[in-house]
Amino acid sequence: MCIFCKIINREIPSNIILENEDFLAFHDINPKAPVHVLAIPKVHVDSFNEVAPEIMKNMTKFIQDVAKEMNIDKSGYRVITNVGENGAQEVKHLHFHIFGGAKLSWSHLSDANPKSMI
Ligand code: 5GP
Ligand code: ZN
Repeated sequence: MCIFCKIINREIPSNIILENEDFLAFHDINPKAPVHVLAIPKVHVDSFNEVAPEIMKNMTKFIQDVAKEMNIDKSGYRVITNVGENGAQEVKHLHFHIFGGAKLSWSHLSDANPKSMI
């Protein structure tokens, strides 16, 4: 069983922010911003590549609710999901990073030439 499935099953402790029948949101163990929350579906899906649009419909609302719960909906935030090798995905259970609580930078993503595919 993957690490996030274990968090869902309470086999691994986490700091939960919001939960319903289908989704769970908890603080990232290694935060990269004052607010760094992970939102996940309770059903195991490897990544964004495999997720059904029907799940994303309710996932969208859940992420919006997390932003409200963390009081960052008005000040602004960033939603990221890493996919696969080049996306630097470490945990193979679909998760959305929700960052906020401060002005976020938007700069260095890769050492490769960003114009090489244009
Ligand atoms: P990824 O690189 O796969 O997009 O992000 C995985 C995230 O999960 C990382 O930000 C990492 O800090 C977080 N993480 C990994 N293991 C745990 C854990 O056991 N508990 C919590 N709360 N976060 C975790
Ligand atoms: Zn899982």
